[in-house]
Amino acid sequence: MRIMAIFAHPDDEIGCVGTLKKHAERGDAVMLVWTTLGELASQFGDQSHAQVTATRQQHGAWVAERIGAQHRFFDMGDSRLTAAREQSLALARLYAEWKPDAILTWDDHHPHPDHRATARMAFDAITLARIPKIVNEGRTQGERLEAHRAPVRFYQYYTKASPYPSVHVDVSGQVETMREVFEFYHAFYRWNFTAEQYLAQRALTGREAGVASAEHFQVRGTFAPATDYLR
Ligand SMILES: [Zn+2]
Repeated sequence: MRIMAIFAHPDDEIGCVGTLKKHAERGDAVMLVWTTLGELASQFGDQSHAQVTATRQQHGAWVAERIGAQHRFFDMGDSRLTAAREQSLALARLYAEWKPDAILTWDDHHPHPDHRATARMAFDAITLARIPKIVNEGRTQGERLEAHRAPVRFYQYYTKASPYPSVHVDVSGQVETMREVFEFYHAFYRWNFTAEQYLAQRALTGREAGVASAEHFQVRGTFAPATDYLR
């Protein structure tokens, strides 16, 4: 299985670290994608874009290494995401190259516009990636990409507002990695909540599903082939 997690800013992935780690441990291919560098974080002060880029590349590499994932940054501009066609197309081309079976991203209702836009472009890119003439727009014969037409499961952070079915993933065995990644970002952002509070939240989510710790997602299937029976 190939899972691509797509978020707007470094740290957004904190809600799925356990799930990504668990899949990586199973031998699945995992890629973390950020659509922006999160360059508007106050911690960067007056640093240049080149300095911010270098720091974020370090952040991304550290987190991806802990999870056992590949990683990739786009630089679409913190607070500037619109889910316009060209932004979705950039993701679609990455789908065409990397061939994800599942996408994991933000929910559709989060207050931050970059989060909603990232969810929208991640979803739209599934369709764009299916169409050879779209993914190959402006590309030479030597650069041609193969459209990605396999079914893609679309997972999003759970929200009560969602009409879609949800799934809990048991991450009881990944708590230490979740703590490490949380502490890494905590040291940078100086959040006013602790790793204990973060893990307690995951434990509460686990209680909903009868396990010690869980992460919670909603799911949509797209372009799934016919099956013989319900499943
Ligand atoms: Zn964010």
